[in-house]
Amino acid sequence: MIGLVLMALTFPANDAKARRTGNVRTQAIDMVMIHSTGGPTCDAGTGKPIWVRAGTLDEDMRKIEADPKLGVHYMIDRDGTLRASVPEDEVANHVLHYSGQSIGIELINDGDGLDPFPEAQLASLVKLLRDIKQRRGITRDGIKRHSDLDHALLSCDRTQRRKVDPGAAFPYESILNRVFQPR
Ligand SMILES: [Zn+2]
Repeated sequence: MIGLVLMALTFPANDAKARRTGNVRTQAIDMVMIHSTGGPTCDAGTGKPIWVRAGTLDEDMRKIEADPKLGVHYMIDRDGTLRASVPEDEVANHVLHYSGQSIGIELINDGDGLDPFPEAQLASLVKLLRDIKQRRGITRDGIKRHSDLDHALLSCDRTQRRKVDPGAAFPYESILNRVFQPR
């Protein structure tokens, strides 16, 4: 409960009705995972690989919240707007095998290594990561990209990885430095 109170004080959800329930956590949280909402997938109609580009914050949040198999804790828009979904104290299914021990953050971005991450979005991410780090004792090594932990291939194209987000345009080392630099 303390965590929820703290979170409510620090990050008031701006769309309370959108918040979803996750599963009960049985593992301690020692990881935060960064995603982009865009990325490769297999087109259900053609069975061919396609690249799904990022939508708006509303569209991408709705897509995840409408899918009973998926979930996320936070989503950050290009302008830095932060939206909360599943409460941190509950599990959101955002990564295979590691959801039970992690907090998932989605960034609105195509995830193709070309789409730039605006500073307003990165500054909002740094603020959120610092807050989570302080509340949860997350180490530098505990902040991961989705691509660091899912190396599986696309079911429709075994030459392509299934998860490459947030992609090469995401300034990972710089973000880690900003989160962990002494203030
Ligand atoms: Zn991802």
